[in-house]
This record gives sequence, structure tokens and C-alpha cells, in this order.
Amino acid sequence: MLKGKVALVTGSTSGIGLAIARAYAKQGANIVINGFGDKDAIEKERSGIESDFGVKALYSGADMSKGDQIAAMVADAQAKLGSLDILVNNAGIQFVSPIEDFPPEKWDQIIAINLSAAFHAIRAAVPGMKAKKWGRIINTASAHALVASPFKSAYVSAKHGIAGLTKTVALETATFGITANAICPGYVWTPLVEKQIPETMAARNMTKEQVINDVLLHAQPTKQFVTVEEIANLAVYLASDSARSITGAILPIDGGWTAA
Ligand code: NAD
Repeated sequence: MLKGKVALVTGSTSGIGLAIARAYAKQGANIVINGFGDKDAIEKERSGIESDFGVKALYSGADMSKGDQIAAMVADAQAKLGSLDILVNNAGIQFVSPIEDFPPEKWDQIIAINLSAAFHAIRAAVPGMKAKKWGRIINTASAHALVASPFKSAYVSAKHGIAGLTKTVALETATFGITANAICPGYVWTPLVEKQIPETMAARNMTKEQVINDVLLHAQPTKQFVTVEEIANLAVYLASDSARSITGAILPIDGGWTAA
């Protein structure tokens, strides 16, 4: 379905991004993966995408908090793979703390990685997409693009910001065969969620079980974590030609959380 397309997925050395990158490769797209982690583990993921799906896969170690590195990553993908057709802005971090104790440097880092990175990548990718009159921009937002939770001021602000950016870009690119949408997962069991459990235990004075059942899954009516495969399947659909009329959409995939 995506044969001949080139997809760049930021923050794809782990979790949701890795599942999306592999799902696009399965559909025949050449891939650029990005993110941090153990060098050998990343090389294993990259070469595994090539051998499992018979596509080209490149790795970029660009830091999503640095605008110049993001622009260079996009240019590199275009130069080495011929174009950039599908951009998934997925890299993200979390920090949980009451606002009066929230470290200002964490605020800056979260806004940079979870929001400004998408601006820099979209800005660099749109001219090539406009020239080809085809493009897909998919931003991994969150249920926190639609509703808030306490102690996540920077994350909720960045994710609400991504929703605004998505809608604006959708309007600007609508006549060029480009769509821009945001996927808004509820809680997905990935390293990002696992890491915030100790912080939430401290912020709310709770046990691990209480955090999982009373905080995380409390908001999710299905009482189940969303899977990375479910999100990857939605990302594949949004990249398909069938989804050409879906643009500017902020799409929850959250087990009913934001219906409440
Ligand atoms: P994860 O921790 O498994 O993956 C995050 C990825 O981002 C990793 O590849 C990491 O290396 C990369 N990354 C972090 N900082 C980076 C930087 N400065 N430069 C480049 N790469 C960087 O997390 P995940 O749960 O897969 O999260 C992916 C996205 O999904 C995030 O935007 C997150 O906010 C969003 N999300 C996650 C959940 C959830 O429950 N897991 C829910 C809603 C939204």
C-alpha cells in the first residue's frame, strides 16, 4: 500500500514510534527511524526493518530538542531516499510534578521535544510534499490534547499545542494533497508510561498498583491499556489514499477516556 513512499518517524527507537515505523515498512515504505537508546539495539531494529520487510531503513540520531538537527534530518532523508512523503512527529517525553515544584528546565525540554520539534519538522518537510502534491503529516498527540490531568502542566500544554498546530497545517496544505492529523492515544503500555509510575507514586503518595488502577486506568472506561499495534494500524490508515479526506482531525484512540 505504501510502496515507493518514504516515511520518517521521530522517536521510533521504542514504543509507539517503533510500532508505526515497522507497520509502514510492512506496507512497503522506506523508513527513517530516530531516537535515543543503546547503539547496538538501535542498529538491530534498523537492520531488522530492512530484513523483515525488504525496504530501506536509515537511522538518524537527531535530537528533537534542536531545531537545526531536525531540519538536517529531514534534508538527509530527502537526499538519501529521494523524498519525504510521510512525517510522523512522535518523539515525546513526560515529567510529573505539582506546578509549584515543576523544574523550569523540564518545562522547556517538554515544550521543545513534544511541540516545537513538530513545528521544525513540518516546516522542513512541507515544501517537498507541496511539490509532489502528496503528503501525510501525523502527529502523535495524546488524550491530553483534549483533556488535562493534574501534575502534567508541560505535557498537557504541549499536547494541546500540537492539536492547534495540526489544525493550522491542515488548513494551509489542504489543496496540495497533504493531510495533517493528530492521533490521541489514551494510556498505552510503553517505557514512557512505565517511567512515570514512580513519579506519580511520589506526587500522589500511592503504591504502584494504585497508580495503575486508580490513576492510569481510572480514566480509561475499557480498563485496558491501548496497544502500540492499534495505534500503528490507525497511522497506516491515515497514510493511505482512502484517508485523503481526513485532515485537521484530532482523533482519540483512548478506550473512551475523552467521551466522559
Ligand atoms: P517511549 O518512551 O517508548 O518512546 C519515546 C521515543 O522518543 C523514544 O524513541 C525516545 O528515544 C524518543 N525521544 C525522546 N527524547 C528525544 C529527543 N530529544 N530526540 C529524539 N528522540 C527522542 O514513549 P511512547 O509511549 O512510545 O511515546 C511516543 C509518543 O506517544 C509521545 O509523543 C507520547 O507523548 C505519546 N503518547 C504516549 C502515550 C502512552 O500512554 N504511552 C499516550 C499518549 C501519547
